[in-house]
Formats: sequence, structure tokens, C-alpha cells
Amino acid sequence: MFVEGTTSEVLRLPQLHWRNPMETKVPEKVVVIGSGPAGWSAAIYAARAALRPLLFEGALSAENQEAGRLPMGQLTTTGYVENYPGFPPGDMRNYLNTAISEDRLYAVPEEVFDDSATQRGISGPALMELMRRQAEYFGTRVVSEDVVDVDFSKRPFRLIDSNDDVTLAETVVVATGASARWLGLPSEERFKTNGVSGCAVCDGAAPRFRNRPIVVVGGGDSAVEDALFLTKFASQVMIVHRRDELRASKILAKRATDNPKIEFLWNSKVVEILGDDANGVTGVRIANTASSDAATKEIEASGVFVAIGRRPNVEFLHNALELDEEGYIKRPIPFRTNTSVPGVFVAGDVGDSRYRQGIVAAGSGACAALDVEKFLLEKSADNS
Ligand SMILES: Cc1cc2nc3c(=O)[nH]c(=O)nc-3n(C[C@H](O)[C@H](O)[C@H](O)COP(=O)(O)OP(=O)(O)OC[C@H]3O[C@@H](n4cnc5c(N)ncnc54)[C@H](O)[C@@H]3O)c2cc1C
Repeated sequence: MFVEGTTSEVLRLPQLHWRNPMETKVPEKVVVIGSGPAGWSAAIYAARAALRPLLFEGALSAENQEAGRLPMGQLTTTGYVENYPGFPPGDMRNYLNTAISEDRLYAVPEEVFDDSATQRGISGPALMELMRRQAEYFGTRVVSEDVVDVDFSKRPFRLIDSNDDVTLAETVVVATGASARWLGLPSEERFKTNGVSGCAVCDGAAPRFRNRPIVVVGGGDSAVEDALFLTKFASQVMIVHRRDELRASKILAKRATDNPKIEFLWNSKVVEILGDDANGVTGVRIANTASSDAATKEIEASGVFVAIGRRPNVEFLHNALELDEEGYIKRPIPFRTNTSVPGVFVAGDVGDSRYRQGIVAAGSGACAALDVEKFLLEKSADNS
């Protein structure tokens, strides 16, 4: 399920600076921004279409660590990815050892290669390394910087990165993903690998949550959907919400209130997640948000699912693309990856508030690369 503490180790490693200064003067055919499943998949398809993609994977900076958007995407924050097709449990040790290049093995926690671990399927960090490797194998050039500003007002587009370099691009795929909002408690950080999760669909079926009480934090659609989903596994699901009514849609709220396994703890906030190293999460301490009474109470729980929203990673765009009311990149043409700017395409969670799964992000990355190819073909036909 979870793998511990790779982030701080990774932060100490030297960053990769792929850069040919002369080349920035010539527009790239396609630049992919983002290093989750959507970005790597877009790069694989674009590379195989001979478009020589340049991919910005993000920087290993303390700022990115704080914001929860370190390179290689959200799946690196989870242990085992059990629902990505093609990776059933099995002895994957030899495959991983040969498929992931030696200079990148540092990014995969050692325990992933243990016998017991490989029997559980693919780990999040290993899956991401395989995608990166595949994209590089077909010719993707990777820059370990953030894109910090863009000019999409005319083609070729201009991208400025965190090393102050300028890249020109005929087309761009934005695949910068989203970052989960967390409570910000030290105890939450401590148990993120051992009972605290930001994804019910991904982690809810794990043995540690079965037939035991679980806490869900939040009051919107995501929290209620998570709670309903978790009733399949847990003995009881307690929704801890700061207010005295849900923000979720009426129909979802009714489903939750009608469900005998769901209990509501209104006007409450989690102030500490309780547990120990051996057992992980064992409960939460909650306080009342509606009174000045400082008293707190403890509730037993085997896990805490934080569902207080997600933040699409769009700051660097500085409004260069139209966003929807939740801040996700708008896709004006249904089932297409086009954005409000012709030549700029979107893939993955940054343009998807609904599905938010690795396989969906990877699929949309492939679609974006195919849309890029078509766009460039049409442009070259126009110019001939
Ligand atoms: C705890 C957790 C567990 C999960 N488990 C599963 C699971 O088991 N199965 C599943 O299918 N899904 C799971 N998901 C959901 C899945 O991780 C996401 O749907 C998927 O990663 C989205 O992929 P993406 O490519 O859109 O973006 P992301 O994975 O979010 O990656 C985007 C990356 O782009 C980079 N980036 C951001 N901004 C910039 C910039 N300005 N310049 C350059 N680079 C930038 C960052 O490094 C960022 O990490 C889980 C999510 C979480 C939070």
C-alpha cells in the first residue's frame, strides 16, 4: 500500500539539466509540461510519431515538496497501484532491475525489490519510473525544471522555466496534474504511509481498513463519494465535517444519510491523528468548531481519508488558458483535449475534476499527443 520516505532522499540528489542553449531558439514541435502518467504517455506517443518531444518534469525543490507536486506525479506518493492494467502481483524484481536504468534506481525505494513487495504488484514510484524510461527510450528529452510562465498569445508559444531559460514551442501539452489538499498536521504527515490516505478508490480496499471503523474528513461531493465507497469495506464510516450540514449535492447527501454504516460528526475538526509505528493509525482526536470549549475527544479508527479538495496545478499559466469554475483547464470540445488556445492541449488531472485516476490520465495523454499530431499536420497542409 504505502512506501515510506523517498521524498527527502530525492531532494538531496543533483538535478538533471538537459539543455542545448542553441536549440531553445528553434521552436520545439511539442513541449509536454508535467511528469505524471498523462505527461509520460503524451511523450511516448509524440516520440513514436517522430515529434521529438521535450518534457518538463518539474524541479526537485522544497517549494514543490511543500505544495505536494514533486516530479513524477501523484502516484509516487502511494505504495502499490493495484488497479493499473498490466501489473498483477508477481515476481517483478528482475523486470524492474533491468527495465529501470541504473542511474534512476535511486528514485525507487529499495523495499520495492523485496520478494514480498514484488508479490503485491507494481509500486507507484516504480510504475512512474517505467513510464519515464519508456518515454526516454523513444527519444523524449527531459528537463528537470518547472515551467514558471507562458506566453500563449501567438505561435510559436514561449515557455519560461525555473532556470530562466526560454523554450519556443509549436504546440504544448499541459499535463501538470493536481495536488491534494491536506490538513497540514504533523501527525498526518507521519501516518501518510500507514493509514492516512488522499484517495479512497485507490487505497480503500486494503486489508487494514476491512471491517474496521474509518474516518473521512470533508463535507463536499468527494468526501461523501469516498464515504459511500468505503462502506463496502469498513465496519463504520465517520464523516468529520467542520459545519453542521454537507456541501455535497442533495442526492449524494441523502444517500449518505440513508446509509446505516455512515455516521456524521458535525461541527468537528481533526486536530490530531493518533497511532504508533507498529499499527499505524489507531484513531483521531477531534475538537468542536462551534464552541470555544477547548475539550477534545478521541475516536477509534483504522484509517483517515482526507477529502477536502484538490488544487489543479495551473498557477504557472497566469490565466493564459480558460479555466472552469473549479479551476481546472476548460476543454471546449467534448471528448477532445483542445483548450481555449489552438495548439495548446490538456491531459490528465489538471483538466479533469471527475475521474482522477492514473489510467484515465495516461489515456488522455495519448489522446493529447494524437491531437497534437493532427494539429501539426493540418498546419503544415495550410502552409503548403
Ligand atoms: C495518495 C494517492 C494515491 C493514488 N492512488 C492511485 C491508484 O492506486 N491508482 C490510480 O489509478 N490512481 C491513483 N491516484 C490518482 C492518480 O495519482 C492521478 O489521477 C494521476 O497521477 C494523475 O496524473 P497526471 O499525469 O494528470 O498528474 P500528476 O500525477 O499529478 O503529475 C503531474 C506532475 O507534473 C509536474 N508539474 C506540475 N506543475 C509543473 C510545472 N509548472 N512545470 C513542470 N512540471 C510540473 C509535477 O511534478 C506533478 O507531479 C492516487 C492519487 C493519490 C493522491
